[in-house]
Amino acid sequence: MASTIKCPKCGAEMNANSRMCPVCGRKRITGKDMAELFLLIILLFFGYLFIHSMRQTAKRMDKTIMEDSSCLFVSSGTLSAEYPEQEIKWIIS
Ligand SMILES: [Zn+2]
Repeated sequence: MASTIKCPKCGAEMNANSRMCPVCGRKRITGKDMAELFLLIILLFFGYLFIHSMRQTAKRMDKTIMEDSSCLFVSSGTLSAEYPEQEIKWIIS
């Protein structure tokens, strides 16, 4: 038989393994919950680091592509008529 504990809110007996009081619905914070929360924070932290580094890489790649395409553009000036003005600005800037 499973052990029971008293709900800290309403005092009803509840299964020690259940995470919620069946009477008032109060949630219990167990050691498992804390572990899950901790894990979530770590995941978020690493997720942030990962996204941050990806964005840095993407910025560097953008810069490289821009430099490359401006070189291409300068070396082949005859293409200018084929590019819309906005695109030329993007390539030069
Ligand atoms: Zn309760």
